[in-house]
Amino acid sequence: MNKKLEEIINNNRKYVQEGLVASYIPELAKANKDHLAVHIFDVNCNENYFGDVDVKFTIQSVSKVITLICALLDKGEDQVFEKVGTEPSSDAFNSIARLETRASHIPLNPFINAGAIVTTALINGDNGYEKFERVRNLIRKMADNDSIDVNYNVYNSEKLTGNTNRALAYYLKGAGIICDGVEDILDAYFKLCSLEVTARDIAKIASVLANKGVAPWSNERIIGVDHTRIVLAIMTTCGLYDSSGNFAVKVGMPSKSGVGGCIMSVAPKKMGVCVFGPALDQSGNSMAGKMVLEEVSKELDLSIF
Ligand code: GLU
Repeated sequence: MNKKLEEIINNNRKYVQEGLVASYIPELAKANKDHLAVHIFDVNCNENYFGDVDVKFTIQSVSKVITLICALLDKGEDQVFEKVGTEPSSDAFNSIARLETRASHIPLNPFINAGAIVTTALINGDNGYEKFERVRNLIRKMADNDSIDVNYNVYNSEKLTGNTNRALAYYLKGAGIICDGVEDILDAYFKLCSLEVTARDIAKIASVLANKGVAPWSNERIIGVDHTRIVLAIMTTCGLYDSSGNFAVKVGMPSKSGVGGCIMSVAPKKMGVCVFGPALDQSGNSMAGKMVLEEVSKELDLSIF
């Protein structure tokens, strides 16, 4: 299969030219837009990969999946979905518009920035650092990698320039949806987005979701079956920002993308897949990465539809 992945990566390299690296977080603008990688980790612990798989990148919005899982563990389904919805958004990932116009003011879903700020606030812990540590530890456990940590250059860059996220968080506080200290929650959110990972880490996290919440390498249950089902459903409808519908048609795998250039995809009962390519399309998804996933999904018959 490595040969097939090599062919798929080479077929789709041309698309990196059509994308742009994220620049609204200045540190992310330093990424090499030519990087492209795919890593597969299946539920029997077989691995296949090709491309720039050793390059480290920040997890960005993919952390929102694990933050949601942690919030569900800490507060349960009812309390979480009282504060954040489960509906897709056709607005940009950091849009503030619908917070104001929706009667309830709650964010549409946990994978847009406003929603992830709410789920971060729901994590158990007396302060932002404790909340951050809880989610980081779950990320480490799901990736089976205790060395995952913050890239402080990206974190500082996000913290310095994250004024749109600040606006979202203060609006949510004003509307009574979050109660804790806003700066503390934002600090946890920025740190979680700045965790540095490889494609292998993300493929392993996805393999836990593919295996109904059980780590394939140890058979330890990390997430309940119900929580896994909820998270996969929201990944399917909301995981690719405002192009989730098109992605469902083309790829058909529950997925979550991040502006660092990675897309985490799950083939239930089969495998976790990570693609990485920092050149993004207009919605903020890896341009070449989504094309690679489309081909991988067709080749291995991974669409859930
Ligand atoms: N840290 C990024 C932000 O808050 C995450 C965005 C993303 O990956 O979608 O803007």
